[in-house]
Order: sequence, then C-alpha cells, then structure tokens
Amino acid sequence: MDFGINEEQRMIQDAARRLMKQEIQPVLAKYPAGSTLPVEEIKYLLKKLIPMGYLGSTIPEANGGAGLDWVTWGLLMEVIEPEMFGVAFNSAGMAQGVALRGNEYHKKTFLPGLLSADRIGCAGITEPNVGSATFSIQTRAVEDGDYYIINGSKMWISNAAFADVCTVLANADPGRGRDGICMFIVDKAVSPWEARKIEVLSEGRIPEVGEMIFEDCRVPKENLLVPPGHGLKAQLSGFSAARCFVGMYGLIPAQLAYEAAVKYARERTQWGKPIGQFQLIQNMIAEMYALIETSRLLIFRALWMLDQDMRCIKESSLAKFYATEAAIKVTSMAIEVHGAYGLSKEYPVADLYKKGRMGTIPDGTNEIQRLIIGREILGMSAFV
Ligand SMILES: Cc1cc2nc3c(=O)[nH]c(=O)nc-3n(C[C@H](O)[C@H](O)[C@H](O)COP(=O)(O)OP(=O)(O)OC[C@H]3O[C@@H](n4cnc5c(N)ncnc54)[C@H](O)[C@@H]3O)c2cc1C
Repeated sequence: MDFGINEEQRMIQDAARRLMKQEIQPVLAKYPAGSTLPVEEIKYLLKKLIPMGYLGSTIPEANGGAGLDWVTWGLLMEVIEPEMFGVAFNSAGMAQGVALRGNEYHKKTFLPGLLSADRIGCAGITEPNVGSATFSIQTRAVEDGDYYIINGSKMWISNAAFADVCTVLANADPGRGRDGICMFIVDKAVSPWEARKIEVLSEGRIPEVGEMIFEDCRVPKENLLVPPGHGLKAQLSGFSAARCFVGMYGLIPAQLAYEAAVKYARERTQWGKPIGQFQLIQNMIAEMYALIETSRLLIFRALWMLDQDMRCIKESSLAKFYATEAAIKVTSMAIEVHGAYGLSKEYPVADLYKKGRMGTIPDGTNEIQRLIIGREILGMSAFV
C-alpha cells in the first residue's frame, strides 16, 4: 500500500495553492466579512478554478470533464480556498450526477453550462419535514402532457440561494411509496422556483445553504433524470463519494486551526517562556496532529477505494463522521491554545471553530453514519 502522493499529484496541489493565493484570495479580500458576493463574482471565481479541474472533476473528458481520479480531485479540494469549497463541490457534484445518470440530451443540455461555471448547480433532497428519512419525501411530481408539475420545498440546500439549475428528488407515485421516487433536472430559466438564503452558524461571503420552493413548477418531461423506482437508489449511491468530501469540509478548518495553534504556541510567552514548552500545550498539539492525520488517512483511503471501484460504504461513513468530529475537537483545542485571544475576531480560530462545527449534519448526520457502519458490520439494519 502506498501512503504517499506522487510527484505529479504534489505539483497539482502546489499549483492549486498558488492559484488560491494569486487569483482567488485577492478577489475575496475585496469583500468585507459580513458582506455577500454577487453571483457574477462567484461565477468569476469558479471560472478561475476550471483549468485545474475543480469543476470537471471526475467527469470523463469525453463529456467535457477533467477526467481526474477521486484521489487527485480530493487533493485539489483539500487546498481550495475554504469559502469556495461548498459552491465548487456542490456544482461539480450536480454535474457528476448528470454525467453519470443522464442520457445524451441531459449531458448536451446541462453539462456545458455547469462545467463552464456559466451556471451553478445544486442538489435538492432534504425538505422542511424530511431529513434523515429520505424515502418519505413530500415533494410531488404529477404528469401533465409533456410536463411534470412539481410541488414542494427543499431545505438546507447548498448553493440554493444562487443556483441556476438543480437536481430534485420528488415522488411521482406516492401510492408506490419509495418506489415512486424519481429525480429531475430543473432549470430555473425554464421552470422557475423561489429561493431564499438560510443564515447558519458559519456564514461566509458566499451563502452556504438555502430553501427552494417549487409551486406548480412545470418541468419538461425530458428533464426526468432518473425514473420512478430508481430515484432513491440513485441518490443513495452517490453518498460514498460525497461523504469523503464532507469529511474534507471538516478537515480543512481543522488543518488551518492546527497551523494557527502551532504558530501561536511558538510565539506566545508566559512564565518567561514560549507556551509551546509547556507539556499540556504540547499534549494538545499532539492530539490535534493525531486527529488531523487520522482524518486525512481515512478520507484518502476511501477516495482510493473509489478509484479501485471497491465498495466503500463503511469506510466513507467512517471518514465522514471521524473527520467532522475531529474538526470540532481540533478547532476547539486551537481556541484553548490561544487563550482569550482565541475567542476574539482578530484571530482566525473562533471562525474556524464555527466552520468546523458544520460538518456533522450534511449528507447523513453522524448518527446515521454510525448506523450505516453498524449495519455493514452486523448485517442488521436499524432503519427497518
Ligand atoms: C451545511 C449543510 C449543507 C447541506 N447541503 C444539503 C444539500 O446540498 N442538499 C440536501 O438535500 N440537503 C443538504 N443538507 C441537509 C442535510 O443533508 C440534512 O440536514 C441531514 O440529512 C439531516 O436531516 P435533518 O437536518 O432534517 O435532521 P433530522 O433527520 O430531523 O434529524 C434530527 C436528529 O435525529 C437524529 N436521527 C434521525 N433519524 C435517526 C435514526 N434513525 N436513528 C438515530 N438518530 C436519528 C439525527 O441524527 C439528528 O440528530 C445540508 C445540511 C447542512 C448543515
């Protein structure tokens, strides 16, 4: 087993770091904390990421994608400017879904816009009354001539506040229960929906999540991406990959908080010596290091398994729950190392703590991840 990254991968990661410093950070810096980037600026930044493969990701080159393997896309996402993580990951994720499940019409119609960042994508599964129990979604799709009419609302959807196009999970035949669930591509320009931003704990300059309301939303029949009977399975099958990246959504603030704590422990003096010399501070630094290294290994092991076409349901759930819980512990310890300064807005760690707290919920809460792991080990499901 090879735990290292090769020379080419190292060069890719270094180039991505340079891109963030030279092209992304200066634009973000124009917007003060508390402000919101206009959508044109978000698209401008996304376009800067395209040459590196951030949006084309694992989509085959024949479909206009970057044709990366999962590990390489992971290495890119690991060094993305943290505020860009959600928008890039979720728009690329929608494009992956279209490339994987779509027919020629879907790919030709929707991939060019998503891959060029002319359009931003998102995926609507969760609803105001339905979170973990996805099979009981209440959004309905009713056939009407050449259209489906969609009614319902989707909540906590990444990119919802500014997305142009989305996939929507709906039930077209509630009498069949979960077998009525199907998936649509909904294009806001053709089938408008209402959207609003939802303020959350860690609010950056690019809105994290929002609500989408579909009221008699007429969607052309050809936009049916996955037919009834297959919608739920299609949605669930994408989770192994997605969970690795939610783990990374925790790893990023953890790594930054750890680096800040190491720097501070070297510089801050008390009792006439650097606080880094105290054993209890060293203990926290060592704990943070252990949590981060373990998270990274678990995430990249699961991504590597995806590259080998190996089943990694258990491993991706473990990567997700371990890394997002490690993020809470690491960012909290980083505040402790900083003392009161850690709670001030002048230092980055308080903000990283908020970011680090976000990851336990998306793509299946960590309770659900534990139940998935239990089911995989025991062969008994807690979900029935
Ligand atoms: C930052 C962020 C981004 C998100 N992005 C998206 C997105 O792009 N698209 C999308 O569709 N959704 C998105 N979500 C929504 C997310 O997937 C849901 O919030 C999540 O699935 C949990 O649903 P819920 O919040 O309704 O919690 P609930 O399902 O109501 O759960 C409440 C509590 O009950 C527990 N619980 C539920 N069922 C069980 C059980 N069987 N056994 C034990 N405990 C249980 C949960 O673990 C939790 O502690 C996002 C959420 C966040 C925070």
